[in-house]
Amino acid sequence: MDPLVTGARPVAAPNDAVFAAEWALPVSSPAIRHGAVAVVDGRIAWVGPIDALPVDFAGLPVETLTGILAPGLVNGHTHLQYTGFAELGRGAYRSFEHWSEAFEVCYEAVVDPEDWGRAAREGVQLAMRSGTTAMAEIVTDGPARGVLAEAGMQGIEYLEAIGETERRWDQGGRAAFLAWLDQEYPGAVGISPHAPYSLDGEVIRDLTALARERGMRIHSHVGESEVEATLYADGNRDVLEIYGDMRDEFALIRSGGTGLSTARYAESIDLLGADSHLAHGIYLERADRDLLRETGTRVSLCPRSNRVIGLDAPPVADYLREGHEIAIGTDSLSSSPSLDLLGDVAALASAARDQGYVDPDLHHRLVDAATLGGARVIGRDDLGALAPGMRADLAVFDVMTVGDEAPEHALVERGEGSCVLTVIGGRIRHRR
Ligand SMILES: [Zn+2]
Repeated sequence: MDPLVTGARPVAAPNDAVFAAEWALPVSSPAIRHGAVAVVDGRIAWVGPIDALPVDFAGLPVETLTGILAPGLVNGHTHLQYTGFAELGRGAYRSFEHWSEAFEVCYEAVVDPEDWGRAAREGVQLAMRSGTTAMAEIVTDGPARGVLAEAGMQGIEYLEAIGETERRWDQGGRAAFLAWLDQEYPGAVGISPHAPYSLDGEVIRDLTALARERGMRIHSHVGESEVEATLYADGNRDVLEIYGDMRDEFALIRSGGTGLSTARYAESIDLLGADSHLAHGIYLERADRDLLRETGTRVSLCPRSNRVIGLDAPPVADYLREGHEIAIGTDSLSSSPSLDLLGDVAALASAARDQGYVDPDLHHRLVDAATLGGARVIGRDDLGALAPGMRADLAVFDVMTVGDEAPEHALVERGEGSCVLTVIGGRIRHRR
């Protein structure tokens, strides 16, 4: 007999507990005033008003906090290895190409590869302290790998390929990438072809085929630069400026473009699909956005990064009106002021209003995007909501509602910087 079982009811495991707050925001169901969640064995066993706590959980320790109890946030786009480049993210740039030049100088200045791992570990702690419990994380350099699992954070580490022409790929690039992919690391792995402009189309086809053979998810940057569309259509080389003379080797330059729009080109190289999500999606026309939706391709919007780089705000109002299930990402500290996802949530609310979005569902949909939306882009149906059976990944934000304000409204508008508790898999990982 299991020594932990006495009589009919198991003795509580060390982390089993009830968390209660002014509001519980399950996301998948309506908000609950004086709501609570019972956590058993790292999973959510019950959600409801604290007054209605079932007798089964009456023996558990109860932690009561002020503010809003919500699912842990799911960051839909990060690069934690650039956490050490925060100075870059505090700057202001004229364009994606201008920022890229500054970024390359910082990147080349890193001499100790272990710095990537140290920066990624610091980033994961920063994210946890702001209520993030899962992320879509891009890894460019080996030492930054394995950091999510090591910290207990959920999510996918997407191994990135960048700057590969067909020739380079055939002459060692592919073999090196495969060797990297085959290394054993804890945690889920995906594949990130950096962007349709920084890799030859044939290389991206190969990468997406590899991902699909192995059942891995795909994540890429699309529609971030104002000029990238002119590369796909006409072979304009502006977005490839940082590659110097090597840019002439890219197939799109040699062929003078394909005549296709950004999303059509992405589709032609097998980058779209329900197993793929894109970061940014700023410079996409209606037909391109429709193609994403029709192919099940989701987008992570990163408005604060876009602002630092000098880009336009993402067309969030259009994405919402057109029925996309969006996610939200911070991007890295090299282009963003913080890894607090609620900073980007507030920025999207403001952008949506500026773009004329007046539907009353705005705050609810943005909370959905920061939780369930993120869970969808990493292919997880056990994250992003407070409901029985879900993983006990929770966060409490010390924000009070005013009058008859909905908790979603308070969380979106004033949640940034307010996280007081983060629980991952039932374990308290941050407390303030
Ligand atoms: Zn990025």
